[in-house]
Amino acid sequence: MALDPDSTQNPPEFPPSGPDVLPPLVTQGDPRLAKASEPVNLAEIKTEGFLNKLETLHEALIAYEGIGIAAPQIGWFERVFFMLSMPDGVENEEEEGDLECWVNPVVVEMSQEQGWAWEGCLSVPGFRGWIKRPLTVKVQGLTLHGKPVTREYNGWNARVFQHEYDHLDGWLYTYRAADPRHIVSLEALEHRASWPEDWPAKGASVAPMGVVLPE
Ligand SMILES: [Zn+2]
Repeated sequence: MALDPDSTQNPPEFPPSGPDVLPPLVTQGDPRLAKASEPVNLAEIKTEGFLNKLETLHEALIAYEGIGIAAPQIGWFERVFFMLSMPDGVENEEEEGDLECWVNPVVVEMSQEQGWAWEGCLSVPGFRGWIKRPLTVKVQGLTLHGKPVTREYNGWNARVFQHEYDHLDGWLYTYRAADPRHIVSLEALEHRASWPEDWPAKGASVAPMGVVLPE
């Protein structure tokens, strides 16, 4: 796995086997998921306990087949998430993406320009949403080693960052839907070739997955 490319330190040494039992996903409707999480105490980074929690979160990302996962989704209510960053800013089944970990991230700038994309969430199983967000974000935070990082994301990576970041503030993509009709079942989405044009919104039925369409 490719950890933060800005880091000159070695990746954390996770034990060879993961946790015996993964924590279950916390799903929409659980009030804990709708609360802002606490910042990570800097003294905690690099401790064995912190690395163990990171490892569990990473194992959950793989086991639950996410492209990003935030700590609150497994019941760890601190400001940490993993995301897979795509080199060309488009989700692509051929490429796995670079694993990036953010600790105590903040969004320092976001573009006026917005874009639309289909989003899904491990905490909202069986659904997808047609969601609008800023196209580009400039962000700051810490790597899993506690090293400060500033980065600009655009395209799909900006979308994934904002989605995971929202979890740290108790927000789900479903709360951001411009219209409740923009939330559809995965089963319905699979039949979107037969949808009327402009259902549930202009461009949504033909939008490729893993791509943000500028407004
Ligand atoms: Zn999510």
